Amino acid sequence: MLKIEHLTKKYRGGKKAVNDLNLEIKEGEFIAFIGTSGSGKTTALRMINRMIEPSSGTITLNGKDLSKMNPVTLRRSIGYVIQQIGLMPHMTIRENITLVPKLLKWSKERKDETAEKLIGLVNLPESYLDLYPVQLSGGQQQRIGVLRALAANQDIILMDEPFGALDPITRDTLQDLMKDLQQRLGKTVIFVTHDMDEAIKLADRICIMHNGEMVQFDTPDEILTHPANDFVKEFIGSHRLIQEKPSAKIVDDVMIKPVSITLEKSLDEAIKLMVSKRVDTLFVTDGHGRLLGYLNVEMITSARHTTQSIADTMNREVEFVKTGTKLQDSVRRILIRNLKNITVIDEEKRLIGLITRANIVDMVYDTIWGEENTEQ
Ligand code: ADP
Ligand code: MG
Repeated sequence: MLKIEHLTKKYRGGKKAVNDLNLEIKEGEFIAFIGTSGSGKTTALRMINRMIEPSSGTITLNGKDLSKMNPVTLRRSIGYVIQQIGLMPHMTIRENITLVPKLLKWSKERKDETAEKLIGLVNLPESYLDLYPVQLSGGQQQRIGVLRALAANQDIILMDEPFGALDPITRDTLQDLMKDLQQRLGKTVIFVTHDMDEAIKLADRICIMHNGEMVQFDTPDEILTHPANDFVKEFIGSHRLIQEKPSAKIVDDVMIKPVSITLEKSLDEAIKLMVSKRVDTLFVTDGHGRLLGYLNVEMITSARHTTQSIADTMNREVEFVKTGTKLQDSVRRILIRNLKNITVIDEEKRLIGLITRANIVDMVYDTIWGEENTEQ
């Protein structure tokens, strides 16, 4: 557990950049520091790994005072990820991933083992380890960048606006990856952002900073339902304020029944089904109801004079969420990725529902964010 007590930083001649910060962070938590520019987020973060020495106050990690720990030991347990995620072009993927382990003087065997394990986590083949960044797609390079942050296997990872400069779609994808890896590897992450959506999406608890002080430190739900003061209210924006706890809403509450067809049927049968059900998309399943792909009118029209096979015509890349997913997360994904709809599947990958772009628009205001400005 990381315990921060009365942490203060006063720069020479200036006001206090961080003023009497007190917080406790549990193992495995994802914490976001958020606040306006100049509110002290970076200073606070950098004091945690002693890149900046505090003026006063203490930080202890599992009872050990960080200021008494030697810097090498400290860097083995706390990692710092710089603002931009970019790979070194003259280094192989393997060398890029194991950059920090190399600085920590790990053996070759241990570095190789780590690189091989990590690349598997993002579903890329081990043979990619010996390629150079230019040989990978942009998206693949970004995923390697995220792996690099995790490679030294530190317990705590500090990240200062790592996705700040990326376009919204890439950012969304990397956020999902980061959250997934953080949970799977059980890391504690402290993440600086100025984007409230990012904080809400990723963090277990959010620390809101203003003028060097912590204004509120709580779960996203608690902050949205009970903002501590007007500054917090203003900061999170009235469109996000929640009147009642909506967090119980999950995709299952609102999904509709998708129209599906099994793989062995013909394209003619698919067309007939579309006409009778008045839909422009059909989801393809196997005999056990497991989702395999989808078909739409355009795909059928262009394939129909050469084949009758659904398997040869369908697109296998279907966006899905699992049953029980929070509605707000799915809505965000549909909007940010500009999807027409998103399927809902169960643990066995069986198709059980569909959330469409058309049916979310009505729900957004009243079931997720509440009616705007009702409090004023
Ligand atoms: P944030 O990351 O929230 O934007 P910072 O921690 O970078 O905020 O900065 C907090 C305050 O401390 C700001 O007023 C900034 O101008 C000041 N500050 C940051 N670094 C220094 C420095 N090296 N010397 C003097 N003042 C600094
Ligand atoms: Mg900063």
